[in-house]
Amino acid sequence: MLALHRICYRYGSVEALKNISMEIPAGTVHGLVGMNGAGKTTLLQLIAGLLKVQTGSICYNEKIIAPSDVAFLPTHNYMYHYITGAEYLALFGAQNPQADFDSLNRIFKLPLKRLVDEYSTGMRKKLAFMGLMALKRPVFVLDEPFNGVDLEGTMAFQQAIGLLAEQGKTVVITSHILESLTEICHCIHYLHQGVLEGSYCRNAFSDLQNQLRARFAQDHQRYWEQFFS
Ligand code: ATP
Repeated sequence: MLALHRICYRYGSVEALKNISMEIPAGTVHGLVGMNGAGKTTLLQLIAGLLKVQTGSICYNEKIIAPSDVAFLPTHNYMYHYITGAEYLALFGAQNPQADFDSLNRIFKLPLKRLVDEYSTGMRKKLAFMGLMALKRPVFVLDEPFNGVDLEGTMAFQQAIGLLAEQGKTVVITSHILESLTEICHCIHYLHQGVLEGSYCRNAFSDLQNQLRARFAQDHQRYWEQFFS
């Protein structure tokens, strides 16, 4: 169980997260949605240990979570550009010699002999995801994994995430495309200006969709009318 208890986080005067608590059982996929600046990346970086917890606690199986518990896919991956895809994966293979990247690459179809410098944005994301799959970590934290990835790759990511959960991993994921989450998540949390406004299980995903549509339509309609009048 991944347990977040009363997490608050500030960047100087900016209160990015306000009193966030949630529990994520092993073997489940939990999504985070919210507008730009809602606090999603901050929350993921706290779970992954890239940011230090200021207030509250994050525990995995009742112990303070360690970075070594987490496999983290950031929104933008920094990769040294002058190694090949195969050399990049070898770094991850060193931790897990059984990782069968040949089979994995039959799905992702990357030109592993070419330099990372020659990869497109989506290809780099696939490479980073392949590396992550070799990590034997119990918690997977994925920040906008589908961003820039083609349709086939997105489906492959979704299948992989489902299989990770089936193996008992805990997965926390963000996306700006709600439908990409409703297909794979057991639960979706809505963050608004650093506040957890609601948590929705599968049978309530349509409520979340309707609420978001209604909220945005209401907010925007007046301004569109003014703009086009
Ligand atoms: P997006 O959907 O655009 O990725 P997000 O939901 O991931 O947004 P965060 O990146 O977590 O949002 O940002 C939450 C808040 O914290 C925002 O108000 C943002 O401006 C602020 N913030 C994020 N990083 C920093 C930083 N390094 N310094 C100061 N403020 C920051």
